[in-house]
Amino acid sequence: MVLEKINHLLSYIQINSTFYKKRLHPYCKIDKLIDIKKLPFTTKDDIAKQNKDFLCVPENEIRDFLTTSGTTGEPISFYLTRNDLKRLAKNEKNSLEICDVNKGDKILLTTTIDKCFMAGLAYYLGSQELGVGIIRTGPGNIKYQWDMIERFRPEIIIVVPSFLLKMIKFANKNNINLTNSSLKKAICIGEPIRDNDFKLTSLGTQIASSLRLKFYSTYASTEMMTAFTECEEEVGGHLQEDLLFIEVLDENGQEVKDGKSGEVVITTLGVEAMPLLRYRTGDICNVFRKQCKCGRTSLRLGSVLGRRNQRLKVKGTTIFPSAVTDAVYAFKEINNFVVEVRLDEFNSDKLCLFVTDKFLKNSSVKKLKDFLRSKLLFTPDIKVVDINVINKKIGSNKNRKINRFIDNR
Ligand SMILES: [Zn+2]
Repeated sequence: MVLEKINHLLSYIQINSTFYKKRLHPYCKIDKLIDIKKLPFTTKDDIAKQNKDFLCVPENEIRDFLTTSGTTGEPISFYLTRNDLKRLAKNEKNSLEICDVNKGDKILLTTTIDKCFMAGLAYYLGSQELGVGIIRTGPGNIKYQWDMIERFRPEIIIVVPSFLLKMIKFANKNNINLTNSSLKKAICIGEPIRDNDFKLTSLGTQIASSLRLKFYSTYASTEMMTAFTECEEEVGGHLQEDLLFIEVLDENGQEVKDGKSGEVVITTLGVEAMPLLRYRTGDICNVFRKQCKCGRTSLRLGSVLGRRNQRLKVKGTTIFPSAVTDAVYAFKEINNFVVEVRLDEFNSDKLCLFVTDKFLKNSSVKKLKDFLRSKLLFTPDIKVVDINVINKKIGSNKNRKINRFIDNR
């Protein structure tokens, strides 16, 4: 079944995509799934530089023009046909069902549905497909979020976890009663909510200490046009096998063992405008192939541990930026910070944490250092700076996500 779909994809892209016409042998076909490994990879750079060559339909067939979120580098253009929109709706309907969202439920959608962004649109379409009510508050304006929660009493919130934490802090300051909140579930996007062992990250723990919620972690990207969504067992996001083929590869291009981490490489199934063959996402995730307790047999992925090219080597250990930012988030006195990495004179990675002097009222640089050492087994340099310095550094990333990690290597 998957083999058939991949062979269909191969013939489709050889006929319709200028990029793959040049890249693949004519009439290229595979006899066994494993033979996909003989086919070439597609990279982000390919899509950025030869963008329109990936397009398999005439431009007047495009119904939605998108850009990627630009987590790394400049945003890249993507395109959806009418059928791709239907596929996207099906994908997100399935995702919501995995989170045990039911017809008639209400969702507060705090992710943007405009700005050429896919996630909000996908959730909107999926909700309509499933028969769920959507309250499209979008991002920002925290008071408004709580007003709409009070007004429409949604059970579910779709949210970036750090934004949910901001909402909770606002509620605590403004006497909004969280125990009476209608919210029961949070579908978390954009940031990991669980660590390697599926335990909540410090960000998740902080949220959970104020608001009793069931968390559902998700992993998705514009390129794959599919979401991996966690079920009630909280052990990684389930693959939707009819929409995506996935490989999780080590540095030598070999499939990693069950429970181990590798780079996620995706092949889209059933995409019309811009299908991708063996696209290297650069995301490093743990993979789980054993049957889930929920009964589903599909492969699962853990949280994104980091990006392939963002791996850090600090004092002999390999660590991803998310582990560093998560450790800082866990230090409750600090709200605003940025971490920068550069190469030192020995070509080793050197980390510097920029903070404002606000936390010094109730704490000290020494306490912060001791705390970080206990979490990370090393301490970055710490610089106390003006808030404008931090905001400028965060703002210097040309993308829509708040990025507290800056790579200057
Ligand atoms: Zn499951």
